[in-house]
Amino acid sequence: MTFPHKKSHGFTLALILLLTACSTQQAQLHQQQFLLFGTLVDISIWGTDKQQAQQAIAQISTDLENMHNEWHAWHDSPLTRLNKMLASGQSATVPPSMVPLVQKSMALSDASDGLFNPAMGKLVKLWGFQQDDLPESTPPDDAEINATTALQPKMQNLTLTHNQLQSHNTNVQLDFGAIAKGYAVDLAIDKLRALGIHNAIVNAGGNLRVIGKHGDRPWRIGIRHPRAPGILASIEAHDDESILTSGDYERFFEYKGKRYHHILDPRTGYPANGFTSVTVIYHDAATADAASTALFVAGPQRWREIAKKMGIQYIMIMDDKGQVTMTPAMAERIHFESNPTPHMTISTLP
Ligand code: AMP
Ligand code: MG
Repeated sequence: MTFPHKKSHGFTLALILLLTACSTQQAQLHQQQFLLFGTLVDISIWGTDKQQAQQAIAQISTDLENMHNEWHAWHDSPLTRLNKMLASGQSATVPPSMVPLVQKSMALSDASDGLFNPAMGKLVKLWGFQQDDLPESTPPDDAEINATTALQPKMQNLTLTHNQLQSHNTNVQLDFGAIAKGYAVDLAIDKLRALGIHNAIVNAGGNLRVIGKHGDRPWRIGIRHPRAPGILASIEAHDDESILTSGDYERFFEYKGKRYHHILDPRTGYPANGFTSVTVIYHDAATADAASTALFVAGPQRWREIAKKMGIQYIMIMDDKGQVTMTPAMAERIHFESNPTPHMTISTLP
């Protein structure tokens, strides 16, 4: 029997909870939410007048909608057209908004030793995760999974010269699901700054970047508990920091009592084992997004090594037994809010 999972937007809201202040301060907080990137996008602006905040939010929502349409992996989009060209072995022109995304993805894939691999769109599709609502589902056949994994699509198969992209492996199909929200958040923060806004959070379903403060105190961010309603922990975010979480609860289906989630291990072709959520703090959201996915895939054996390679110092992981492991830097920043507090281990990076 299968149990389809549909994302509950109420739940997504709880994922990153803004722990807001007293009512006099609330007057200076402008907040708006809309659905994009298959998730709830939440913009909070502090300390500007209402009109400036509303105009900024309107611009950001238009920008984000454009990115969503351009980078969409399964609706007809510039990305799906690019993927068709790559599959035919032809050189393709990359739209301007996508060039930095391709460049960042190449560099971050290298840094992650290929565990963050946006070239494996075929595998994501095979597992049924390239659709708006997850249907009742069964896992694909092992033989199909093995055959698709053996095609070994990699970002290193691509050559980007100016805006011309060519793949030396016609099985490369780009899927930016693990980095696009982070990069979109970075661009939204750049835009807010250009519009003269210096205190804000842009949060795309738990992928967020913060600038400035919430009045006279830092923004406080709640991290969702991967297996219980409500939050696991909170973090005070410093100016210009990003906090991103990859979790096995975001998109999944269950079959015969086993969870099959959307974070796939390019080495095996199956959903990555061992962790239920990985949260990282880093300066920019695109890097943090790719890193949280890569560390999730790296699993208990390799996460420390990959964190070191990617330059990530702040990491909190919950494993599939409900135990938390943190780096020393993260342990100094995090406050556990769940009751009971999980079993915790502090682990130093190499
Ligand atoms: P995230 O929630 O940021 O961890 O991204 C997960 C999404 O990225 C999935 O829905 C897929 O579209 C895609 N994806 C899954 N596994 C990987 C991987 N190992 N590397 C890159 N993208 C992936
Ligand atoms: Mg990611």
